Amino acid sequence: MILTEKKPIEEIKESLKNNKKVFILGCGTCAALAQTGGEEQVKEMAQLLSDKEIVGTAVVETPCDKRLLKRDLRAISTALNAADAVLVLSCGVGIQTLVDLTGKIVIPGLNTKFIGMTEHIGEFYQRCLACSDCILDETGGICPISRCPKGLLNGPCAGHMDEKCEVDREKDCAWVLIYKRMKDIGKLDKFREFRKPRNYQISTAPQQVVGSGSE
Ligand code: SF4
Ligand code: SF4
Repeated sequence: MILTEKKPIEEIKESLKNNKKVFILGCGTCAALAQTGGEEQVKEMAQLLSDKEIVGTAVVETPCDKRLLKRDLRAISTALNAADAVLVLSCGVGIQTLVDLTGKIVIPGLNTKFIGMTEHIGEFYQRCLACSDCILDETGGICPISRCPKGLLNGPCAGHMDEKCEVDREKDCAWVLIYKRMKDIGKLDKFREFRKPRNYQISTAPQQVVGSGSE
């Protein structure tokens, strides 16, 4: 799932300072699970913005899916049209999909962080940064891009101590985990291979389309 965190309310208020009528839109999928953009958080946000005229609130099923958002917007279009701005509690994809469909002024209420694994509700771990060139086969299924703070392709660095990361001594060094895993599965030869610098062009290409669909 896509992990998001709430922006500070002061930042949101500053972004909304020129907008009187506000619609608050939440996400019923990832942001609801992350407890950043579900029913409760939308209600809470409406209370925090008591100085504004809240013309409507809604939690749509999946704002990052254009087809589903289009369907869900039909029920709220009147209130949405009355708003000067829409405060969106979803990841950046949901926000941009709303802009594509409505052209409304949008204010992000959340920061989009990473693709994460859910351990428990409210407890998530960064596991993928969508780098466009997955090397999990070379690292025993443990991602160094998202789990090593330096994103090293060849590790560990000299800073690891007692199997912990130098950046955060509470966390396991990703490359020590990778080493142990590769040893367990008999692939230390692969571990020792030098991995060349990444080709960042493939992960920064604008307008990237995956699959054969067109807009
Ligand atoms: S290498 Fe890591 S960041 Fe890249 S796609 Fe695979 S899991 Fe995601
Ligand atoms: S100690 Fe390990 S996880 Fe931390 S930055 Fe160095 S290689 Fe990466």
